[in-house]
Amino acid sequence: KPGENPQIKPELTKEHLAATKGSVITRFPPEPNGFLHIGHAKAINVNFGYAKTHGGICNLRYDDTNPEAEEQEYVDSILEAVRWLGFEPHNIFYSSDYFHQLFDLAVKLTEKGLAYVCHCTGDELKAQRGGEERGPRYACKHRDRPVSESLAEFQKMREGRYASSEAILRMKMDIHSDNTMMWDTVAYRILYASHHRTGTEWCIYPTYDFTHCLCDSFENITHSMCTSEFNMSRESYYWLCDAVEVYKPVQWEYGRLNVTKTLLSKRKLLELRDKGFVRALDDPRLFTLPALRRRGVPALAINAFVRELGVTTADAVIDVVRLDNHIRDCLGEIAPRIMAATHPLRVVLENLPEDHFEEVEMSYKPNDESFGTYTVPFTRVLYIDSSDFREVDSADYYRLAPNKSVGLQGISRAITCTKVLRNADGSIAELVCRFEADGAQAKPKTFVQWIADCPKLGSPVRLDEVRVYNPLFKHDNPKDSSEVPGGWLSDVNQDSLVVVKGAIAEIGLWDWIKRYAATEAGRKELEQHNVENVRFQFKRIGYFALDKDTVLTAADIENAQFGSTKLIMNRIVTLKEDPKK
Ligand code: ATP
Ligand code: MG
Ligand code: MG
Repeated sequence: KPGENPQIKPELTKEHLAATKGSVITRFPPEPNGFLHIGHAKAINVNFGYAKTHGGICNLRYDDTNPEAEEQEYVDSILEAVRWLGFEPHNIFYSSDYFHQLFDLAVKLTEKGLAYVCHCTGDELKAQRGGEERGPRYACKHRDRPVSESLAEFQKMREGRYASSEAILRMKMDIHSDNTMMWDTVAYRILYASHHRTGTEWCIYPTYDFTHCLCDSFENITHSMCTSEFNMSRESYYWLCDAVEVYKPVQWEYGRLNVTKTLLSKRKLLELRDKGFVRALDDPRLFTLPALRRRGVPALAINAFVRELGVTTADAVIDVVRLDNHIRDCLGEIAPRIMAATHPLRVVLENLPEDHFEEVEMSYKPNDESFGTYTVPFTRVLYIDSSDFREVDSADYYRLAPNKSVGLQGISRAITCTKVLRNADGSIAELVCRFEADGAQAKPKTFVQWIADCPKLGSPVRLDEVRVYNPLFKHDNPKDSSEVPGGWLSDVNQDSLVVVKGAIAEIGLWDWIKRYAATEAGRKELEQHNVENVRFQFKRIGYFALDKDTVLTAADIENAQFGSTKLIMNRIVTLKEDPKK
């Protein structure tokens, strides 16, 4: 129960309870050295979720003690991602807020004879840890130096009188312990680096192991939840709180979440970007939260996915198909449905007059009137998707082929292919078809999407680019080197991005954007260039969202004109699970 860690001294418990009034306080503690990823979505749900369930609060704490890797861009993107998932931190803190308090406690620890300044080299530190080749573990010669000497040396470290590898402050723990985290772990190191918040005020920085538990303590965190690689750190976490005599939170561990066919490590993501395998850290092929958002994945689907998995204690690599299914479920509810063709094929209806013009009413979502309707022209010249036509027919094929019929979506009538016209190179230029009279034939088995050629109404809408994404890696677990002989980079799928040019959609797409822009929230989003909430189901193809490379001006939306507009769409997910995967 909150504040009832049996190992805490009663007076510290009293102080803690006075501060928290017995309620739960958790924190989400990312290091601002990269974008958050799908694994962090679990951490966010665990921390915010636990606090919410118990009527408590959850803080966001930037764990910023490595000035070399941290940047303001990441600070901003982390908060944005937390909010995007639907959580609002009660407080926003930084470990660097506590640099002075931490320094004072390091002095206190040294005064108590529980920390010392050590000047060993990296090799010496390694040798002291012992091991089969190195021999028995041993204490370094600085361990027993007088307290006054360590205090003076620590001041010298702080004053910048040592070069960066000449001194460290180590905690005097228990080198005979079975737990490696108790082998006099480093508390402070010298770094001549400018910090994104404290600038050059400090040239010594506390380590994660020194910082994390004390910041939890300062903030009266009741449950310090972390991933299971910190199991071993639990002992040193408690040791330090006890050593400097501060309130001690309870540490709980849970398993890391990963998904198949991707990697989440920040170092590897940077390498993928720097070597050009992906375009940016928010490239929709990645599983960072900004990448998922950019791809058009709804935050709701991510939360549903991690909640379904629950707070497991084992690390898990979950099949990405399970995430895709949550995305489909979610998009099935929220995405309007329209007709589009990624590879259009021109069709001329030979038995209709040149100027034939009808308007057909379509609904954005059959069975849900709240989505509303729109009208599209129906004319003599149309486009269908070339995947719906085959020259070589077969009995189990129910789409268009020479002398075969297929239905048109939204129109209860069929077309029959009477002639195939060719280009000089033999490729198909267009199909000549007959528009069948109502009831002239048996009801078609399949109804394909079509888009009228009616420039005066802006049909078809041209999509400058449709980006189709496939898994970035070939193997489920690309980092497993036994499975991938050439190393993880050799496992990159060269067809992970297919850029389709020349795709088209019906004018329902444009009408929906207009409608979206007419709402207060929609207009704001588009102004801020957050276009990913403009999503569609392209019937029979998949789910798509506008990519942020889209160029869309207010004037273009207003006039439904395509002046400078450039529509770029991402495929979020296919309509159905691919049985081959
Ligand atoms: P990475 O190695 O990907 O950089 P990290 O653990 O260094 O991850 P932090 O910014 O320190 O990243 O993470 C913030 C919080 O999120 C920590 O509590 C961490 O335990 C948790 N977390 C990080 N990765 C995962 C994951 N894959 N699954 C669940 N929780 C995670
Ligand atoms: Mg970390
Ligand atoms: Mg890390």
